[in-house]
Amino acid sequence: MSSDPLPALLARALEHLQAEFATLPSVEELPVAAAFEPILAEVAHRLGDNYPYFHPLYAGQMLRPPHPLARAAYALAMSINPNNHARDGGRASSEMEIEAVRQIAQIFDWPEHLGHLTSGGTFANLEALWIAGQLAPGKRIVGSEQAHYTHQRISGVLKLDYASIAADNRGRMDINRLEDELKKGDVGTVVATMGTTAIGAVDALDQIVALRERYGFRIHADAAYGGYFRLILDELEEPVRRAYAALERADSIVIDPHKHGLQPYGCGCVLFRDPSVGKFYKHDSPYTYFTSNQLHLGEISLECSRAGASAVALWATHELLPPVPGGEFARGLSACRAAALDLDRRLRSRELFQPLVAGLPDLDIVVWQMVARTPELAGQRARETFNACALHDLHLALVQLPHSWFVPQGKAVTSPGPVGVTCLRSVLMKPEHAAWMDRIWERLILATGKLSEE
Ligand SMILES: *Cc1c(COP(=O)(O)O)cnc(C)c1O
Repeated sequence: MSSDPLPALLARALEHLQAEFATLPSVEELPVAAAFEPILAEVAHRLGDNYPYFHPLYAGQMLRPPHPLARAAYALAMSINPNNHARDGGRASSEMEIEAVRQIAQIFDWPEHLGHLTSGGTFANLEALWIAGQLAPGKRIVGSEQAHYTHQRISGVLKLDYASIAADNRGRMDINRLEDELKKGDVGTVVATMGTTAIGAVDALDQIVALRERYGFRIHADAAYGGYFRLILDELEEPVRRAYAALERADSIVIDPHKHGLQPYGCGCVLFRDPSVGKFYKHDSPYTYFTSNQLHLGEISLECSRAGASAVALWATHELLPPVPGGEFARGLSACRAAALDLDRRLRSRELFQPLVAGLPDLDIVVWQMVARTPELAGQRARETFNACALHDLHLALVQLPHSWFVPQGKAVTSPGPVGVTCLRSVLMKPEHAAWMDRIWERLILATGKLSEE
């Protein structure tokens, strides 16, 4: 830690920032009190009660550490603490937000768009569905049963009816079931998930786009987790590649820079293909917009105050790692996917583990069932493995999934009806996971050596 060059770099950047305001008469600064030290030590101690999210042996939930440059830029911005609601609150950081959002829109080949950052994917989805509801009042929203759980709740908040469409044995929306719903004639918006939160499954957006020709509805792509994989679409298997290729034909897209985009929390993004939806955001605030008649982000956002620091961190990250195909950032995504395929291959080589029967992971999340006589026993073994791995410093996650996804075709499911089973899940969203796979695997095998006999 002591050789970390970041504090020195940040201190120099802070001096540059202070020089920007050098003409102001000096103000006595608040003293950095000795009383800070024990409190900060206590904070550090309290924070020790976390999984080590920054470490490659943390391979559990959807957590990717922010880039050091993003952390530094965020900290630098905090000494100004801009508010990107309006130019009065954050002139420079509003410009940086507009530039950073434009770069994200380029991932989807949208030269024209309306978009902004949000506090996260949930709020970004809320805005997209709010616009969808304005455009098709009273019509239903539908999403797959594997869509993020918040879509149903958001629809409730917006007083829009919501229906779940069954998913197939790869976690993708069942397109035939979708068409059954569409035939009822009251669907206003289809939410396509580009990378489900549970297993990273990608809905067949190309087929949903084709259905739109026939039935007419709005398409919202929830790419909060998987959006950046558009940068490496040619490396993805069919039909996932085709789904990503259709992404530019969605009407709105949500992507979370705080998931795969190397940002600290508090950074989602919503994009609309048709900028004219901005008219729905119009309001007359008597106190916010006086100093300029340029676009204020608060005029196209449901949230009022927003962290300018988030925009600054994202902008800085794009300077170093532009989100473009073939760049270093995109190569990081390829490494994540390679790690997932590597783990999946190793799991398939052992009797003990049963990954998805129907095929490879779509993105960089791997799920598997522990082989056992009954789903209950499989769940127990998954929990035991989860705990035993943690004792070896390997942190995985648990997830509840349909048992039928792990049963080879033709083999009877032991219990009748749709049965959930607790499975193991690993989100391999750090590029370093690829190089660490031997060490991850070694610990997993060690942990399963101690499983109780059936
Ligand atoms: C994470 C996620 C969300 C919610 O985003 P937050 O940033 O956690 O609010 C929505 N949809 C999908 C597919 C996600 O993975």
